[in-house]
Amino acid sequence: MSFEDLNLNLSIIKAIHDSGYTTPTPIQKQAIPELLSGHDIMASAQTGTGKTAAFMLPALHLLATPSKINSRGPRVLVLTPTRELALQVTEAAKKYGKYLPRTKVISILGGMPYPLQNKLLSQPVDILVATPGRLIDHIQRGRIDFSRLEMLVLDEADRMLDMGFIDDVETIAAATPATRQTLLFSATLDGAIDKVAARLLKSPKRIQVASQKARLDNIEQRLHYVDDMSHKNRLLNHVLRDEALKQAIVFTATKRDADTLADNLYAQGYAAAALHGDMNQRERTRTLTKLRSGGLRVLVATDVAARGIDIADITHVINFDLPKFAEDYVHRIGRTGRAGAAGIAVSFASNRDSAHLTKIERYTGQRIMSHIIPGLEPRIKPRLPSSGFKGAPSVAQKRKHSSFASTNGGRKNFNAANESNGDANGNSNGNGHRGRSFGHDNRINSSTLRNRNGSSAGHQFARPK
Ligand code: AMP
Repeated sequence: MSFEDLNLNLSIIKAIHDSGYTTPTPIQKQAIPELLSGHDIMASAQTGTGKTAAFMLPALHLLATPSKINSRGPRVLVLTPTRELALQVTEAAKKYGKYLPRTKVISILGGMPYPLQNKLLSQPVDILVATPGRLIDHIQRGRIDFSRLEMLVLDEADRMLDMGFIDDVETIAAATPATRQTLLFSATLDGAIDKVAARLLKSPKRIQVASQKARLDNIEQRLHYVDDMSHKNRLLNHVLRDEALKQAIVFTATKRDADTLADNLYAQGYAAAALHGDMNQRERTRTLTKLRSGGLRVLVATDVAARGIDIADITHVINFDLPKFAEDYVHRIGRTGRAGAAGIAVSFASNRDSAHLTKIERYTGQRIMSHIIPGLEPRIKPRLPSSGFKGAPSVAQKRKHSSFASTNGGRKNFNAANESNGDANGNSNGNGHRGRSFGHDNRINSSTLRNRNGSSAGHQFARPK
């Protein structure tokens, strides 16, 4: 199936071709026809699957026909949990809508000055992308006219639920016309999300594409045991000196640690900066722009700030501190391996983290292989978890047993194969192996990490069950 087969407006097809996309991704193939025929949908799709275009292309298609209602208010409203994701959706709308005449896209986000937002809202708007809290403020002040709203998109609804925004989301939905088309995207479609959907959607079609496990399949996960902070810093330095590393996100547990580590790395000569929730929006945007333009090689971030970052050159994610929740591990490492590229996720763990690691492995269904760098061996022999892992081997393990190789340098090849990766209910085939769609050929092999002399320096071992 090609984009032409989807019957989208030709101006949109032209913009898609400019973006370099040749085939719709599985979520796009499934969602776009349903949306064009007017159905509500609830879709489970991770970031990286092309979900933004899956809702944005039909939204833009709808805008190609003038509204019958005489109003300046938005015709499409997208709600997102974070400012970063909102900005990304806004960019996508502009990119795919660039050939549609007079399509006005704005974002209304917390942390931005009100006067500018008031001005934006006083002008005609087609697509409004917003975080719920700030939007409610404007609604309560009577600054938004939803009389011509036709489509409401809840992006990363599970996250909005987790972050306590769901009441705001429901208040906003209640302020929009009941005739609207409603779309809900979520990493999982579980009981809590079902309840939200039952209140806000009308007979929605359920769409489920690749599972979480399949989504991680293009990311090689590595584990380094660390003795103490000094050992951890030396290991970090080793990983950052890897020439295969184009850009990296290093995750710390706290905002203060993010600042301190970014300062230390900067002092050591790395193009590094911090990103966390205590920074104002202008600082965050400036840092992200720098990262996107290649002006930064290392971003040191906390969980909240990193959601929605979609930058192709991020080759490595480093868990300087392990995340508190297994789910965050998946979000973190999903910052690499974007759009079918290969990625490497490195986690540092101390002897005390074994139970935590087992939880993460159970959640992902994949084992994280432990690595040792000669000269940087942990002093203490890791206490190994005794049980708990029943899932699939990691990418590194699988590669040892397969001659799998991609032919296109590992980029943007995540189409057809992904479709066979699990049934319509998102049940993958155990290990996400069949129909695997991501390339691996341009990655350094985990068992041959090189030291500075070029000798084979790495060593990996599996933690026993
Ligand atoms: P998303 O899941 O929306 O965050 O998108 C992940 C990445 O996939 C983004 O960088 C998009 O530009 C890219 N993308 C979206 N649709 C396609 C497609 N049909 N072909 C190739 N890349 C795509």
